[in-house]
This record gives sequence, structure tokens and C-alpha cells, in this order.
Amino acid sequence: MSDVAIIGCRSYDSAECRASLEEAVSNTGGIDFIKKGTRVVIKTNLVAGIKPEKAATTHPAMLCALVDMIAEKGADVVVGDSPGGIYNSVYVNRIYSIAGVREVEKHGARLNQNFSQSAASFPGARVAKSFFYTSYLDDADCIIDFCKLKSHGMMGMSAGAKNMFGVVPGIIKPEYHYKYPNPKDFAGMIIDLNDYFKPVLTICDAVEGMEGNGPTAGTPRHIGAVIASRSQHKLDLLCAKLIGFEKEDILTLQEAYERGYIPEKCEMLDIYGDYKSFIIPDYKIVTSNRSLLFKSNSKTVLGKLTGRVVARALKSEPTLKKSECVGCGECFRVCPAKAIIMVNKKPVIDRSKCIACFCCQEFCPKGAMKVKRTLIARVLGGVSK
Ligand code: SF4
Ligand code: SF4
Repeated sequence: MSDVAIIGCRSYDSAECRASLEEAVSNTGGIDFIKKGTRVVIKTNLVAGIKPEKAATTHPAMLCALVDMIAEKGADVVVGDSPGGIYNSVYVNRIYSIAGVREVEKHGARLNQNFSQSAASFPGARVAKSFFYTSYLDDADCIIDFCKLKSHGMMGMSAGAKNMFGVVPGIIKPEYHYKYPNPKDFAGMIIDLNDYFKPVLTICDAVEGMEGNGPTAGTPRHIGAVIASRSQHKLDLLCAKLIGFEKEDILTLQEAYERGYIPEKCEMLDIYGDYKSFIIPDYKIVTSNRSLLFKSNSKTVLGKLTGRVVARALKSEPTLKKSECVGCGECFRVCPAKAIIMVNKKPVIDRSKCIACFCCQEFCPKGAMKVKRTLIARVLGGVSK
């Protein structure tokens, strides 16, 4: 059994998806833990109502292939997620339709229709000692994290661990950005959620990834792979490598490393498959310089002052591309810091209030909000590819 398996998958042809998934999963421990009657939740990525070809969501062909593998064992399969926005039947069912995931019903799965939420107490957490989550997860004997490999404005990358932030009900997500404005704490909160829900298996749809202005408005980029692991963190370490990041660049990976979940480098993993052949040297990433900001933290007075100056100089910001903005006001509604006002149907950001959570960038339906890096950040952190 390998730590991670990466298998070529050139397209979303159903037979190819199934073959690639089977090879990836069987080389990372298989799914014999699923028996007749096991209640399996597939926590997919349905970040927003976006069509599958845009590569923002886990592709329905992949989901169907996995559902087939599980349903053949006689298990009870539910597919669910909490997209950004209102967590209710009308809204989420609309997203099921747009994202094409209704297909899974033809393969024996149910789409989650329980839109209640629960409160969790997690005293062992480093950051999120209490939080709200989507109640349907309580009905699972096991959770499979089925993520998408994407660039991400705030966190650098969205893959296995970040996908589990989707356990938080949509409307509450921006509040969590406000509650944990320190990026390291935000990453710690995400790893806490992973620790609480403990997905037994993580699979990444990296056939078509998303590069550039991710996680919702970037550009599809062919990677041609399916990746599986019993550890979402080890899977993430490999995913990062494929698109040009190291552990130091992604705060959730740093947090996972500090908790002893991953080795120092991707090369130290036992990987099934020729991962080097899937590395994309010119993958367009959005580096928000979290690692540089983190490194600038210091406990001395001089260090704190220097850190603040450095942090300001390095801070990436959301920036409006006016020509692409349709004035819908979604950024204004989701901004947890109330840093946006609408002037003449265009958002104006109060930089003194902005906490750089990039919710406005993530939820802009037109991709009009971009991540802007300062010149010094580009020089120090490497020019964004
Ligand atoms: S969400 Fe996007 S399109 Fe809508 S007002 Fe904000 S920037 Fe403009
Ligand atoms: S303006 Fe954008 S990045 Fe700044 S706090 Fe509001 S949503 Fe977050």
C-alpha cells in the first residue's frame, strides 16, 4: 500500500475514469472497508453553481465512477457539499443541476437533501474548538473526500484538506474568515475540521485542474491524473508539487507537517505512479504570500514592527477589474469584514477594513475580482506563474 497513487486519466470518459480510479484506490489500500449497508458520504467539491467544464467542481463522470464502485458493494451512498451561499434545498438543488451531479442518482447514489446544521464541540482542536457543520455528515459511517485540484486566491491551493472546509454551512463560511483573520489560524481551523471528520479516503480529480484566478474563476488546465490517498495531507503534498508549490508555500501543509501528518518533502512519500511526468512547470498559481507573511512573524518588539512593515509590503489584495464587473453586489454581500460598499453599481474596497480573505474573489460570478500581488511580493516570492 502506497502513501499516494497517481494514475493517468486523459479524459472524463466513464470507462477511463473507472479504470484510473480503481488503480489509484487499489494501490492505496482499496475500499474493502465498505460493506453491504455501509453508509458512505462522498464529500464532493461543489463550490458554486458552475458547469463541470469550467473545472471548479469535482467532475460528475468521476463521481459516477466512484459511486459505481461503492454501490456495487451494496453500500448506501450520499453525495453532498455546502457551496458558498445559502444552505437550503432550493439553492443547493439548483447547484446540483448546474454542476451536473444529478447524474450520480442514475448510478445508485442520493444527493444530500438534509439541509440542517449542527454544532460541534472539539476540545482537542488547536483552533476550532467549536464550530457549525452540515448535519448530513452525522449519518455517515465513513466520509470520502473527493476534491478538485485548483489554485486558490487565499490558500494558494485547493485540494484534499481545503475541500473539508465545505463541511461548514455556506452562509457561515465568511464568518469563519472573520473569526480567524490570522492565516495560520485559518489553516489550523481547516486542519481541525479534517481531524474531526477524518475522511477515510481522499481522491482528487486532477484530470482538468484549475489554474489562475481560482478557486471559481480560473482557467481549466489539463493535468490528466487521478490521485488517491488514505491521507488527505499526503495527497495535498503531492498535489502541491504538481502545480509548483512546496510545503512552505501552503499553510495547510505547514500545519499538517507540524502535526506530524506529512514528511518534509513530497519526495519522501511512497508514491505509486510516475508523478514527475504530471508536474506542470508553468501552472499559473496565485500565491498570496502567506508563507512569507508567516515567516515575518516574530515575538521581539523590533521583529513585530519589522513584521508589520514586511506584512504590509507583501500583502496581496483583491483588485477589481472594472470591465468584467456586472455590478451584481455578491462581493458586497459575502464580505465578512464589511469592507465593501457599492458605488455606482461597482464595489469599492475600504483597505483599512479588508482582512484579505478573498471571499469577494472566490464568490464573484464573473471573475472580476483578482488577486493582486505587490511588486516586492513578486520579487521575494517568485513571480506568479
Ligand atoms: S461580485 Fe463580481 S461582478 Fe458582482 S459586483 Fe462584485 S466584482 Fe462585480
Ligand atoms: S474586501 Fe474581499 S478580501 Fe477584503 S475582507 Fe472583504 S471579502 Fe475579504
